[in-house]
Amino acid sequence: MTRFPIDEFQGLRTPFYFYDLKLLDQTLSDIKRTARDPRFKVHYAIKANANPGVLRNIQAAGLGVDCVSGGEIEAALEAGFRGERIVFAGVGKSDEEIRFALEANIGCFNVESEPELLIINEIAGEMGKKAAVALRVNPNIDAHTHEYITTGLAENKFGINLELLPAMIDKAISLDNIDFKGLHFHIGSQITETEPFVMLCETINRLQNEYNAKGITFSSINVGGGLGIDYAHPERRPIPDFENYFKTFHNHLKLRDGQEVHFELGRSVVAQCGSLITKVLYVKEGTTKKFAIVDAGMTDLIRPALYNAHHKIENISNPNGELHHYDVVGPICESSDCFGKDELLPTISRGDLLALRSAGAYGEIMASQYNCRKLPHSVFSAQ
Ligand SMILES: *Cc1c(COP(=O)(O)O)cnc(C)c1O
Repeated sequence: MTRFPIDEFQGLRTPFYFYDLKLLDQTLSDIKRTARDPRFKVHYAIKANANPGVLRNIQAAGLGVDCVSGGEIEAALEAGFRGERIVFAGVGKSDEEIRFALEANIGCFNVESEPELLIINEIAGEMGKKAAVALRVNPNIDAHTHEYITTGLAENKFGINLELLPAMIDKAISLDNIDFKGLHFHIGSQITETEPFVMLCETINRLQNEYNAKGITFSSINVGGGLGIDYAHPERRPIPDFENYFKTFHNHLKLRDGQEVHFELGRSVVAQCGSLITKVLYVKEGTTKKFAIVDAGMTDLIRPALYNAHHKIENISNPNGELHHYDVVGPICESSDCFGKDELLPTISRGDLLALRSAGAYGEIMASQYNCRKLPHSVFSAQ
């Protein structure tokens, strides 16, 4: 359970991200324990949070890293990740980024289109290198029952459609400077049920049977990320159910001898260890509503404005006060700059500190300087 050292918070500039490093370490230990199958290789999707203090702990725990830009590869190298533990994904890798990744001797490129494959082959040739490549497949998993799967559909920009895959595999195998490793998938994010992952395993099993029959084998299968967390109850399950997650792949994925499975978890690794701490500037009484106007806004945490997401709000200055309803809003000149409507919270006064929970993933890293605001800073718990 995250404890907020409220006395230490007094006098700090707000807003800031508070990272509970003890919880992060417990989460990482749990991943190591539950992913103990030696064929399983867990990578951290750095786009969720690239704070150096957070990254150092993840690197120390022995995870690899999944990057989607040259800047992320730089951040990963700075945090001590070795090149061979880096995979590089994304639909639009620039020539400079490809060159940089090859110089860093990264472990694998996850390739999403034929022109990209050809450019990687060309640049690797110029550099006298061979690029390890996995092809990102769009598994077209039926979304009717799972509307949260947003990246695995046919009309999506991500991945290679199943019909185009055979020609792409042939191409990858035929190119001189490409070392074809296998297939990559990523079906979506914030998935809190087991079924989509079972469906993914079944798709992979079917593809492996089909291609093995044609004499094509894959040394690595990358199943992506997407494991969700409990935003409504950050204390009920502060560590996601990794046991069930890895067991699902262990039980359903039919692996070939010597095959590795790569996982790329982002949100589930870091979301619960981070909170955005903000100070109440004013309590404004409307005719029917009370507004708590806080000094954090969508520039510090954009998920509510961007995805209509809700982060649990706590009044950590007055946790046991009498309950009232408040709209908790930020100072930015956008009406979407709102963290919660009719939130039932202990009496809020000017100067109180509020915690927006479960903000460790896609929080600080998405901060902007809109309205010429300062970026939020970060504070760490004792480890
Ligand atoms: C974003 C992303 C991930 C991580 O997703 P989470 O939902 O945060 O686990 C993994 N793989 C790829 C290719 C991604 O784009």
